[in-house]
This record gives sequence, C-alpha cells and structure tokens, in this order.
Amino acid sequence: MGIIEKMRLDGKKIFVTGGARGIGKSVATAFAEAGADIAIVDLDIKEATKTAEEISTTNGTRAIAIEADVTKPDDVNHMMDQFLQAFGRLDVAFCNAGICINAPAEDMSFEQWKKVIDINLTGVFLSAQAAGKIMLEQGGGSIINTASMSAHIVNHPQPQCAYNASKAGVIQLTKSLAVEWATRNVRVNSISPGYMGTELTLNSPSLQPLIKQWNEMTPTKRMGKPEELQSICVYLAGDTSSFTTGSDFVVDGGFTSI
Ligand code: NAD
Repeated sequence: MGIIEKMRLDGKKIFVTGGARGIGKSVATAFAEAGADIAIVDLDIKEATKTAEEISTTNGTRAIAIEADVTKPDDVNHMMDQFLQAFGRLDVAFCNAGICINAPAEDMSFEQWKKVIDINLTGVFLSAQAAGKIMLEQGGGSIINTASMSAHIVNHPQPQCAYNASKAGVIQLTKSLAVEWATRNVRVNSISPGYMGTELTLNSPSLQPLIKQWNEMTPTKRMGKPEELQSICVYLAGDTSSFTTGSDFVVDGGFTSI
C-alpha cells in the first residue's frame, strides 16, 4: 500500500468540537473525504446539523450533529454516550472549540477571563479526558487539540492575555496527556494556527481594518485558509503518525519566525 493510501481514514470514528463552522468544519470535511464517520459537536446545534448534512451528502460517509457545551462535564459525558451509541467506538478526537475575547489586562473582567479559560482550556481538557478514557479502554486513539500561534508569541497590538494564556495551557496539557498515555497507544498532539480567514472573520465588516493589518504582519502577506490545516490534521488522525505524540504543529505563514 502506498503512503497516500496509508494516510486514509476509512472507517475511523471521529468527533470534532466546534465543528459547525470555521476551522472545525473544514477539518471535519477533510476527515470525511478521507473516509471517516464524523460527529459535529457544537453549542450551535442548528449550524452543526447543517454542516453534518452537508458533509454526509458530499462524501457518502456518516455525519451526525451532537449538541454540547464543552465547558460542562455533564454535556461532554452525554455527548460521549451519544457518540458511542451512534458509532460504537472512538478513534480520533479533534478538540477544537474556542473563542477569543480582546480586552486590556487591566480592564478584563473576571467573567471575560473565566469564559475564555473555561472554553479554550477546560473545554479541551474535558473533551480530551472523555476521549482518552474510551481510547485507553479500546487500546488506542489519536487526540488533536487546537492551540494557536498565540500560545507561542504575543501578537501585539491586540490585548488578549486570557486567550494567549489559555492556548499556552493547551500545549502543556497536550504534552502532559501525551506522556501519561504514551505506552497505552493514545497519542495527543496540538496544532497552532496563525491568522486564518474563516467565513466569520472574512465577512465581518468591523474586522476589515484588522484583517488588513494581519495580512501585513504575516510574512506571507496573507492570512491562512482553513483548508491549509486539513492535511496536518488528517496526518495526525491517521496511522502514519504512529510515532508522533506530544508535538505542536505551527501553521502560521511564518508569523512566529519573525
Ligand atoms: P469559529 O468561531 O468560526 O468556530 C468556533 C465554533 O466553536 C463555533 O461553531 C461555536 O459555536 C463553537 N463553540 C464555541 N464555544 C463552544 C462551547 N462552549 N462548546 C461547544 N462549541 C462551542 O472559530 P474558528 O476560527 O474556526 O476557531 C476554531 C479554533 O481555532 C478555536 O479554538 C480558535 O481559538 C482556534 N484558532 C483560530 C484562529 C483563526 O484565525 N481563526 C487562529 C488560531 C487558532
């Protein structure tokens, strides 16, 4: 079998949190194109259902939508039950749901700080923990967490200390889980995207001045496209990455190199 065939995900069962739109939707689509059955897990069940329908119609694989708030342990456990009822096993978890709140540190409210940490860090922990428990019982699996280039650098001038701290936390959480589970065949890695143009960012009139600035600040002089994260995630999900664990993959058009 050639390397491209070996990278396929035929028959794998995958959940994607924050999969209704943006990066999650794009990566879920790639997983399905590679042959996997998908659960789109999101707070926004209407959009998640639309995305799941779109994915299954286009690819002929199974895609379902599950409503869950990743900050709530009961929701995550219930999501896992629903997932196993539908698919019987779990091979890959893409723990990707996240938000950003910009506010100067001195003005950031406790609620703003807590919301960002709850979704971006605690949400990834709860999703990865639920996935890890099942994978340890099954004898293996791959977990991919979404961090950010903001885990590595402070992308001045936006004041976003909670976001930066949450994403740095995701990387160290990823390494911790990877080391704990390494001998039990559960791999855990993270991706660190740079500025990515999603439907939401590109279509928001208020973000246009910022987008111009982001393009200028990035060495490639453009933002990334969500599709440019697909191949690294398909690699990490599949069996050809069997010796890859505890690693973070920066995909940022060179932003963190300057
Ligand atoms: P997005 O806003 O387009 O999509 C995020 C999805 O997560 C939405 O569908 C939303 O409903 C869902 N979500 C939010 N809170 C949730 C919760 N508590 N429980 C379940 N679902 C929830 O965002 P995106 O740009 O696609 O970003 C996805 C991930 O990538 C985030 O973790 C983000 O921090 C990270 N990231 C994005 C960029 C970028 O430039 N877009 C760059 C680096 C990292």
